[in-house]
Amino acid sequence: MRLSQVFAPTLKETPKEAEVVSHKLLLRAGYIRKLAAGIYNFLPLGIRSVRKVEAIVREELDRAGAQEVLMPAVQPASVWKESGRWDYYGSELLRFKDRKGGDFCMGPTHEEVITDLVRGEVRSYRQLPLNLYQIQSKFRDELRPRAGLMRGREFIMKDAYSFDVDEDAAKASYHVMYDAYRRIFDRCGLEYRPVEADTGNIGGNLSHEFQVLADTGEDAIVSCADCEYTANVEKAEIQAPTAPAPEAAAPLARVETPNVRTIDEVAAFLERAPTTIVKSVLFVADDTPVLVLMRGDLEVNEVKVKAALGATTLHLANDATVVEVTGAPVGFAGPVETKLRVLADPTVAQISDGVVGANAADAHLTGFHLGRDVPQAEITDLRLAGAGDACGRCGGTFAYFRGIEVGQVFYLGTKYSEAMGARFLDEEGNEQPMQMGCYGIGITRVLSAAIEQHHDDRGIIWPMALAPFHVIVLPLQMNDDAVVAEAERIYAELKSAGIEVLIDDRDARAGSKFADADLIGIPLRVTIGARGLKAGMVELAARGVDGREDVAAADAVATVVTRVREALAPSGE
Ligand code: ATP
Ligand code: MG
Repeated sequence: MRLSQVFAPTLKETPKEAEVVSHKLLLRAGYIRKLAAGIYNFLPLGIRSVRKVEAIVREELDRAGAQEVLMPAVQPASVWKESGRWDYYGSELLRFKDRKGGDFCMGPTHEEVITDLVRGEVRSYRQLPLNLYQIQSKFRDELRPRAGLMRGREFIMKDAYSFDVDEDAAKASYHVMYDAYRRIFDRCGLEYRPVEADTGNIGGNLSHEFQVLADTGEDAIVSCADCEYTANVEKAEIQAPTAPAPEAAAPLARVETPNVRTIDEVAAFLERAPTTIVKSVLFVADDTPVLVLMRGDLEVNEVKVKAALGATTLHLANDATVVEVTGAPVGFAGPVETKLRVLADPTVAQISDGVVGANAADAHLTGFHLGRDVPQAEITDLRLAGAGDACGRCGGTFAYFRGIEVGQVFYLGTKYSEAMGARFLDEEGNEQPMQMGCYGIGITRVLSAAIEQHHDDRGIIWPMALAPFHVIVLPLQMNDDAVVAEAERIYAELKSAGIEVLIDDRDARAGSKFADADLIGIPLRVTIGARGLKAGMVELAARGVDGREDVAAADAVATVVTRVREALAPSGE
């Protein structure tokens, strides 16, 4: 294509709305434009890169035996009511009524729709296994859309769903998809880690997220230095203290602590280390209040609390509930003599003389010992993992990373097939629920993640596989017929060799042509200048690599074709 004709409005200034680099560069380089919060137009360069990700995903999923379908974006409430999610998916689900008053939503994910489709058609084990995928715009009314394509409200996702006869077959399907994901993200040129993940609202109990390593990522990951274990901090198992719980070291004693509420305030007031103070956090799990105890210097992990309780919904109790349930103002709740169910992190059992709220205004108790004072407490790992924590698998030490979740795979079991009656007849003629898995990739988020990893202060540095064009041909002097003719020849020959090539045919200064080529991030650049051409030479440069190479003009096309093909060859082939 001719750059003079491409609708790629580049910006000199960084738009104020953008904070992270991928968002800034997608706007500046003319890939996307915002319509409303978290809702974007894709311009020609943008949609070309989107199509690149989609093509890789299609190839690898087809190779893995999945089949493409396309489901509706608009979904009736009826299927969501059948699965039970209409009531607790929350306000991310954009709900609306049609003209007849029927309830509908915009699809944030498609477990219900696919289960409805498959239950209507599959009757026999002979029709299984089945793996169906689609690439489609999803809508999630995110509370805080941010960072451009990173967290949009409307975004493009690939979602796949597998159906199998039993758990072993379903887990085999899971691993086939896991391997396909590795090939997909390898081909996208991303540095990523598959990490063990929580299954959240989707259900099931086996899941991995594919996390692109980037400081701007919203997810926190820990990875053991000594074994393979890598997990989202929400999920990461921490080794419980190996020492036996100490004996109680002091009797319980009430101390007046006027207006002293937070861990830091209590620590300062009583002149004690925060590690001897116990946080009492009141949650409401499926409408029932539960007290969670954590050592003062550590954070409670809500995901682990929810999993430990097997709760469908979990939230922090509001102030009014705290007052009602504990009889004390916020800041003075405690576990001693409580009627509530109590969960405690193992670190709390290690404290021999702790401080807890007294369930009375302006008072705490010292001398607290979990085993003596709250013997009924259920002790289980409830902490948010962090750097330096002991690995739950081997006791090694966790290192900490930030990541961008570009994909997730889940083994679902029979959660949806049971709820929605997706059954088949097995070989013996018995009716069984299908075993399911589901698998998502954030197609548009992949672009943000790629840019977070591949950019410099001049612009995007696309991996070849995701670039909207492989090569840009850049004639320096548009008033020199020989230069223009040679540039046109190289352009035409690259095109007929199947290379995706742009020619910067604009009558602009060399400096601004270079700046735009760098900003939009085309991996290879062939520069044709009057002086070099007199010697039969053109210049070849790779975006993001220092130095330029002079190559004979006659060899330029062959050299570029080889470089592009090498860069696109799937690794290991
Ligand atoms: P997150 O935790 O980031 O909100 P999620 O776990 O809810 O994501 P999934 O339901 O697993 O997301 O969706 C599959 C994939 O879709 C994710 O791995 C992610 O790459 C992408 N995705 C999810 N939400 C968004 C969004 N708001 N904008 C862009 N991509 C998204
Ligand atoms: Mg996810």
